Amino acid sequence: MLVLQKYGGTSVADLDRIRACARRCLGVVEQGHQLVVIVSAMAGQTNRLIALANSLGEAEGSTAAAKGPYVVAAQRSPARDRELDQLVATGEKVSAALLAMAIMDAGGEAVSLVGHQLGMHTDRNFTRARITHIDHERIRRELDAGRVVVCAGFQGIDEAGDITTLGRGGSDTSAVAFAAAMQADVCEILTDVDGVYTTDPRVVSHARKIDRVSYEEMLELAALGAKVLCSRSVELAMKHGVPVHVRSSLHEGPGTFIVPEEPSMEDVVVSVVALDRNEAKVTLTEVPDVPGTVAALFRALGEAGIVVDMIIQNAAHQGHTDVTFTVPEAELPRARELLEGMSLPGGGRPAAILTDPGICKVSVVGVGMRSHAGIAAKTFEILAAEGINIQMVSTSEIKISVVVSERYGELALRALHDGFGLHQGPARAERP
Ligand code: ADP
Ligand code: ASP
Ligand code: MG
Repeated sequence: MLVLQKYGGTSVADLDRIRACARRCLGVVEQGHQLVVIVSAMAGQTNRLIALANSLGEAEGSTAAAKGPYVVAAQRSPARDRELDQLVATGEKVSAALLAMAIMDAGGEAVSLVGHQLGMHTDRNFTRARITHIDHERIRRELDAGRVVVCAGFQGIDEAGDITTLGRGGSDTSAVAFAAAMQADVCEILTDVDGVYTTDPRVVSHARKIDRVSYEEMLELAALGAKVLCSRSVELAMKHGVPVHVRSSLHEGPGTFIVPEEPSMEDVVVSVVALDRNEAKVTLTEVPDVPGTVAALFRALGEAGIVVDMIIQNAAHQGHTDVTFTVPEAELPRARELLEGMSLPGGGRPAAILTDPGICKVSVVGVGMRSHAGIAAKTFEILAAEGINIQMVSTSEIKISVVVSERYGELALRALHDGFGLHQGPARAERP
């Protein structure tokens, strides 16, 4: 069997944990399997490297804290992003080499592969590169020579041979991409929780582990910021049918299997709830109500690479309308700057640009929503019973998201979690 295991940052956070990963790797080899390992940087290392790069652009003596995406707007350029990728890719190189050595120290055979040795080819979009193809000939050769192949996650190379990275949390994407390309029998994501829970167990301590979750639900959950898997990795897994098993790196018990939807899954209306604190709200008041206005607004934001999530346009009144939308909180200053400098078709301007970083998005997700009515009403009733005001709403076939004040985010999450009964009974039973 070909096993692919990905160890996340907390699982390789220090030398003791790296030694423990090495022992676990040898356990797989002892069972007669071939093993490819993808590693993340040691916990906190990527943030530290980004903070160093950010601090360079600040006044001397200050230390900029890394938050959200890579860099603050003023410092951003393709040439600087190239250097940033050179820098942050070192984090994974360190843990790959250390894990390979730990495997050798424990009596096994291993080799680490990084950057140009990996065969992970990408486009040239530094800091958020997309995979173009994977050449796994070198990995195969090393496996056939009886070695555990420890690959640095998160990184690839472009056509020019320059190092690129796949975006935050990108080691998950590396893992699924190699598993798909090499047709691994299993892709295990080993992390600091023992599976996917009904919600973030760090926020709701009585959240419960789910045995099986569909690709679609996991995709929504990942897109809502539930770090446990990055959304591109789920997209890839769904596209290529990669069997993903999220489980603890600390013990051998079964975790959560991410699988194609099963008929019984529709019996559970809401399977997971999520809280995304990284959104901010922008309101443009009295925007001229003429064709092409919102198109121009969102085109400008899109061209600046600012991803807009929820959008509400109010009914027009006396030739004007209010437009409200959300953007990632880290992009708020840039969005504001752009909107202030922009003129709308016909030369009009909004009366005011109001921004509010103090919001969050709470969502309920479940494939069962397709076949059950009244979920939106129940969501609103649960929040109303807690006295929580809803500022915006958006829905998809299997998700309802509401924007509420950041102050009430955790309360809303807990109320919805328990209100939909996720604290009771098996979160989702194993298939009989
Ligand atoms: P790694 O370093 O292994 O990549 P991450 O920190 O990226 O790990 O992801 C694991 C974290 O995801 C957990 O510690 C947990 O707090 C968080 N998380 C958020 N939502 C969920 C959820 N629904 N189920 C499990 N973990 C979740
Ligand atoms: N080290 C990278 C990050 O922190 C990639 C990963 O951990 O998946 O985003
Ligand atoms: Mg992660």
